[in-house]
Amino acid sequence: MGEDLEQLKQRLPLLDYLRLQNWTARPAGHGPEFVGLCPLHPETRPSFYVNARKNLFYCHGCGQGGDLIRFVELSQHLSFRKSLAYLEQQSPPPADPAAVLERAAVFYQQQLDRYPEARWYLEQRGLRDPALIRELQIGYAPGGSLRRHLVAQGYSLDLLRRTGLVNSQGHDALYQRVVFPCCQDGRIVNLYGRSTGVAFAHRLLPGSKGDLFAWESVRQFPTVILVEGLFDLAVLWQASFRHVTCSLGTHLNPGQFRQLCDRPRTVYLTFDVDANGSGQQAAQGLAHRLRSQGITTRRVLLPSGHDPNSFFVQGGDARQFHSLLEAAP
Ligand SMILES: [Zn+2]
Repeated sequence: MGEDLEQLKQRLPLLDYLRLQNWTARPAGHGPEFVGLCPLHPETRPSFYVNARKNLFYCHGCGQGGDLIRFVELSQHLSFRKSLAYLEQQSPPPADPAAVLERAAVFYQQQLDRYPEARWYLEQRGLRDPALIRELQIGYAPGGSLRRHLVAQGYSLDLLRRTGLVNSQGHDALYQRVVFPCCQDGRIVNLYGRSTGVAFAHRLLPGSKGDLFAWESVRQFPTVILVEGLFDLAVLWQASFRHVTCSLGTHLNPGQFRQLCDRPRTVYLTFDVDANGSGQQAAQGLAHRLRSQGITTRRVLLPSGHDPNSFFVQGGDARQFHSLLEAAP
């Protein structure tokens, strides 16, 4: 046994090993835990938990638990010594999903200037500042070229499928969409694609939507404007409202909610004013939850039928938006 036990377990994290064995899992709440069907016994409801930080598993169905070596002993029916030998022969895990998402985001950014329809779409949404477009790392998925590009860089088709970048037929999931990267703890964890054509408007890859958008730069502000959509954020940043963050929809995930509450601050909720009132209803519910955490909230009332993006696209300016903030109850 040339390799130290701990080194072996670090080189091949349990979660990576399981994924190499085609174990599929979803995050179990907010944290390092994942849950999926138990590979050690037949079951229809997931009861197999992996803690990625502790590098341990536990199954509530069959009661088995332990580390990577224990898992190999049980799944391969090998002795401890033979399990170690088996693991030492395993190749290192492929690039992790965050790395492939980074590469995809960079690739999409490179495509943006090559497709006039993408630039045209951004202009329709009121986004004209090239420096801001670069800063937000906006890209474009023309379709048909991502898979070839990433496979040529050594990423497996299987990994591309698992991240959701390509679908089961091998096509770009974000085909003909303007793409924004979504981050968590500084790493890309998802990509948001806004359709430029007739396809369903919003699409996220499977998995978490991550932190509040650009939270690293926004968190410093004692007053924060929260919007639903990335194009809302983009036009507001362009109009010099840099204390704007975005939750990608009206429902905040637990991490996003905690971020808004991480210090005493005032939050301006600037959700869509849509005909069915759902945006305002969501804002009301969120305001209530935030206030219970000691956060001061204001609800910005845009003209009926508007979101911040359409407000600016249809001629609204920074001064008018500022008046709306001042009038917010
Ligand atoms: Zn089990």
